[in-house]
Amino acid sequence: MIVDTCANCDSPISEGKRVLHDDHAELHFCDAQCFREWAEDKGAEKVMAFYRALNISEVNY
Ligand SMILES: [Zn+2]
Repeated sequence: MIVDTCANCDSPISEGKRVLHDDHAELHFCDAQCFREWAEDKGAEKVMAFYRALNISEVNY
């Protein structure tokens, strides 16, 4: 059974296969390589926005 497709390469993600899941964006990736390609290309803005929301705040000294 196919549960989803890879957010990077559109390969079918089938049940029982070990894949990567992005809990925040609810996306699946075949492997770390696909995640990296997605993050560098289509996901760059989303990844940066998420990182920013988690880690970046304004400070005054
Ligand atoms: Zn893929």
